[in-house]
Amino acid sequence: MHKTMPVPLQLPEIFAQIPRYNILYSNPSPIHPLPSIVPPNLSPHHPLISIHAKREDHSSPLACAGNKYRKLEYIVPDILSQTPSYHSHENDPTPQGPLQGAVTTLVTEGAIQSNHTVQVVALARRLGLKAVILLHRGTGGGLAAASDKEAFQRGGNVQINHLLGAEVRICEEGDPLALDATPLLDELRASGQNPYWIPGGASLHPLGGLGYARAAFEIAAQEERMGLGGSGRFDYVFVACGSGSTVGGLIAGFKLLEKMSGFDVSNTIREPRKVVGILNSPTRPRAYHEKRVLAFARRAGELIGLDGERDIGVEDVRLDDRFVGTAYGVLDDESKEALETMARMEGMVLDPVYTAKVARGMMHWVSEGEVVDSAKPLDQVNVLFIHTGGQAALGAYADVK
Ligand SMILES: *Cc1c(COP(=O)(O)O)cnc(C)c1O
Repeated sequence: MHKTMPVPLQLPEIFAQIPRYNILYSNPSPIHPLPSIVPPNLSPHHPLISIHAKREDHSSPLACAGNKYRKLEYIVPDILSQTPSYHSHENDPTPQGPLQGAVTTLVTEGAIQSNHTVQVVALARRLGLKAVILLHRGTGGGLAAASDKEAFQRGGNVQINHLLGAEVRICEEGDPLALDATPLLDELRASGQNPYWIPGGASLHPLGGLGYARAAFEIAAQEERMGLGGSGRFDYVFVACGSGSTVGGLIAGFKLLEKMSGFDVSNTIREPRKVVGILNSPTRPRAYHEKRVLAFARRAGELIGLDGERDIGVEDVRLDDRFVGTAYGVLDDESKEALETMARMEGMVLDPVYTAKVARGMMHWVSEGEVVDSAKPLDQVNVLFIHTGGQAALGAYADVK
């Protein structure tokens, strides 16, 4: 085998057998150091803190690569099956049985500047399908806060959705379709299409958590090749928590890895990796997200061979709501500063909705010593920041510069 051939990811049997349609690059998304992001006020007693970024924004050749493609990889086999099972809206009171006949159209929803919708539309194109997307004007505060409302509603991801050939439906606040898009699916069916509904962020889809469970195995394989100091692993993994299955999937995947390695907390100083989900919206309380993330982690866990209830508990779900800012989709001053710091110190561009808030939170955890466990001191703490994409939205945030 040639040296540069990608090494296939080793997954346990049950997990490896779950159908997946490859839409990512064959190499793992890169992990690289962030050498300029140095914690400013470390005391001499503190361990070295090493910070890396995993570039999920470089994971796929499809448009505006971000975390949704990984989730969609596990949904495509159902879309392409002869009898797709999970095509109904999650709030449809009388969900239909398996679809009869081939899917013609992917349908999904999001905020005006949703990254998720772009990824669903690009996937649809790639599969030769139509795409219909519902964009909600009432979600979050991005539109209200935008100084250039025209740019917010036409630029960024909206422009790209049009370029990709999506049929874009704008949903006003209070529109019943905001709660249940079943009438839209009925309308498409009446016009002879066979629509497949993908919930917002793909998180409520029963297979939505698998992509990031697999990403946990990818990260573990990358750790081995990197030769990290300290524990040799990423002790902390910081990632955005929006609809929740990215963080939920990671929790499930790392839990399975831990279980496979016969990990026993009582006789080792090697702590399990800690996944920290940084919330980006004050709309709902942390408890709401904790419940969802736990459910997503358990559902993915069951599919990959864990006992969801026994193996994954509330203590595995770490969500931080200190960095949500003023509203979903609004870049507060501190997160804007984090976005600028990453741009000017590392030459790395974040997005205004999710990763800027994660970077702010991650830098807070690092500079305040919150990643240091004084009970189990390490000479080095390894921190991973997951860049989940979303930069295309910047075009709609005219005042970010
Ligand atoms: C969707 C999205 C997230 C949040 O992921 P969830 O799985 O919905 O929690 C984070 N970052 C970006 C750039 C996204 O588009």
